[in-house]
Amino acid sequence: MSTTYKPEVQVPSVFHKKIGDIIVTVISDGNAELGLEVFYELEKDEAVKILREHLQTVPAHMNTNAFIVNNNGHITLIDTGLGQKMGPTGGRLLDNLSAAGYSASDVDTVLLTHMHPDHINGLILEDGTKAFPNAEVIVHEKEYEFWMNGSAEEQLPDEWKMIVTMVQSAMEPYKDKVVRFTDSVGLPGITAIEAHGHTPGHTAYLIESEGDRLLIWGDIIQSPVIQLSRPELKIAMDIDSEQALISRLKLLDFAVQERIRVAGMHLDFPVFGYVKKEGNRYIYVQEQWRANDI
Ligand SMILES: [Zn+2]
Repeated sequence: MSTTYKPEVQVPSVFHKKIGDIIVTVISDGNAELGLEVFYELEKDEAVKILREHLQTVPAHMNTNAFIVNNNGHITLIDTGLGQKMGPTGGRLLDNLSAAGYSASDVDTVLLTHMHPDHINGLILEDGTKAFPNAEVIVHEKEYEFWMNGSAEEQLPDEWKMIVTMVQSAMEPYKDKVVRFTDSVGLPGITAIEAHGHTPGHTAYLIESEGDRLLIWGDIIQSPVIQLSRPELKIAMDIDSEQALISRLKLLDFAVQERIRVAGMHLDFPVFGYVKKEGNRYIYVQEQWRANDI
């Protein structure tokens, strides 16, 4: 027996994990190329050397993930991925969401870690209308203010203007359904942890139920290999790089000390793992996949 069939697409990239009574599902949105110039404190050769030492490809790429948090039927989607405007390898969120058993209209709440385009472009469809027709959007007060009320235009360099426009277009259809928070997100089982610096209101979220925990750390890390080997690096994507560095080390140390399961928007699929520290560097250890995780 033989076949002429040749697979051309990946099977849907979703992975469910029970955190106590809550079911968290990582939904892959795909990936995007990661230009090494973002690591501006490293010579390009040095960045390539680190990647090669860890048997990684050059050019580097960055996985992009979103997370469904199903808490007794209330469906929260944390971040929305690259959307349709950031290259052919991204924007898989809606297809993979449906493979996970959810439809876009099931999403009650979109909770944002921050408003960079690779996290909020998925809020809208190609025609600019809502991808999640029934959702409210919850975001940190400082984050919303920065992007939507003039500060981003004033403070960011000219080459970011297109990005600011992109961010505002993604948020526009939801403007009357935005809830801004400073401390509590008001969702049971989800606690906000301040991680400002990458953007003014960048926030990580701790999911807790029945004594089990998961830290979804947003953009603390974009390149696990480079930034965990060299955690002191400042990077170009951080709007306040000093504060971002403080937040990065704070969350990494928290993960190490608490031995807490972590997940991130740019950790490699299927994402869930733990962090340990050796000398000055951190090491990410993928949690072993189990068929009975759900
Ligand atoms: Zn990002």
